[in-house]
Amino acid sequence: MSFENLNLHPLILKAIVDSGYTEPTPIQEQAIPELLAGHDIMASAQTGTGKTAAFMLPALHRLATPSKVHSRGPRVLVLTPTRELALQVSEAAAKYGKHLPRVKVVSILGGMPYPLQNKLLSQPVDILVATPGRLIDHIQRGRIDFSRLEMMVLDEADRMLDMGFIDDVERIASATPATRQTLLFSATLDSAIDKVAARLLKTPKRIQIAAQQARLDNIEQRLHYVDDLSHKNRLLDHLLRDMALKQAIVFTATKRDADTLADNLSAQGHEAAALHGDMSQRDRTRTLTKLRHGGLRVLVATDVAARGIDVAGITHVINFDLPKFAEDYVHRIGRTGRAGAAGIAVSFASGKDGVNLKKIERFTGQQIASHVVPGLEPRFKPRPGAGGASRGTPNVAHKRSRTWSNDTSGRNANSANGNRDNSRGRSFDSDNRGNSFRGSSNPSPYARTK
Ligand code: AMP
Repeated sequence: MSFENLNLHPLILKAIVDSGYTEPTPIQEQAIPELLAGHDIMASAQTGTGKTAAFMLPALHRLATPSKVHSRGPRVLVLTPTRELALQVSEAAAKYGKHLPRVKVVSILGGMPYPLQNKLLSQPVDILVATPGRLIDHIQRGRIDFSRLEMMVLDEADRMLDMGFIDDVERIASATPATRQTLLFSATLDSAIDKVAARLLKTPKRIQIAAQQARLDNIEQRLHYVDDLSHKNRLLDHLLRDMALKQAIVFTATKRDADTLADNLSAQGHEAAALHGDMSQRDRTRTLTKLRHGGLRVLVATDVAARGIDVAGITHVINFDLPKFAEDYVHRIGRTGRAGAAGIAVSFASGKDGVNLKKIERFTGQQIASHVVPGLEPRFKPRPGAGGASRGTPNVAHKRSRTWSNDTSGRNANSANGNRDNSRGRSFDSDNRGNSFRGSSNPSPYARTK
């Protein structure tokens, strides 16, 4: 199928051509006709699948026809769990809508000054992209007129649910016209999401795209068994000295660990910086801009902060700490291999990560081949079937029998100093209103080793 067959406005097609897209991705192919026909949809799609264009192109198509309602309020509302994702959605709106006359996109995000937002909201708005907490504040102050709202998009609804934003989302929805078209995108469509959809969507079309495996095909997944923190640090230093590594995101379990590890790496001479929810929006934006422009080689990040990051130069993702949840693993490694490029995802696993590793492999349907760096071999022997298939690639040298024993790290990589959301037991980085969790005040295990 080609974009021409989708009946989008010619000025939107022109922007698609400018973007260099030759054909719609599966989510675009399935969602766009349903949306142009006016249906609500709920779709399982993650970042990297082209889901942003799947909703933004039909949204812009609506905007090409003037509204019949006399108002300055938004015609399209996109709610996202994180500020970074909101900024990416806003950028996509500007990119795909650049040939349409006067499409005004406004982002309303937590952590940004109110006076500027008040000013933006006092002017006409076409597309409003917002994080739920800050938007609620403005709604309560009577600053938003939803009388001409036609479309509401819930982007990464599962994450909004996990982060405890869903009540805010429902309150926002109740302030909008019942005639609106509602779109829900989520990594997975489970029963919790079904309940939200039942309350907010009208007989939605359900769209499920490509299994996890298909989307990971261009990413080579590698596993390194590690004995302890010092072993992890030495391996990381080795991996970062590989010239084939252009840019990398290194994931840690907690915000504090991200800071400490970024400091350690900088002290070792790497161009590194941290990104997490405790940083001010200005610092986060500055760090991301630097990453985008190639001024930063290593970003040390936590799950939520790094979600949705779409930087073409990222050749490697390194799980310094393995995520506790398999879905997070897929989100993390999807930061590399963007738009069809090849990527490498390296995970460090200690003796205590066997169960997590198995969960991840079951979720992705793929075994992760274990690799060994000569001179940095692990001492412990993983048990057979505990995850981490040895494969016959030239780099794979791990052929010993496995028992998950002899772990000397003294810590589970995912024991995270707090940072938990108790709604569904998922890892929790921060919300958009600045109330991030810290948990225990244990000293970071990432004390400098060099
Ligand atoms: P998303 O899943 O929305 O985060 O998009 C992932 C990446 O795919 C972004 O860099 C988009 O610019 C790119 N993209 C979106 N649609 C297409 C398409 N039809 N063909 C090629 N790249 C695309």
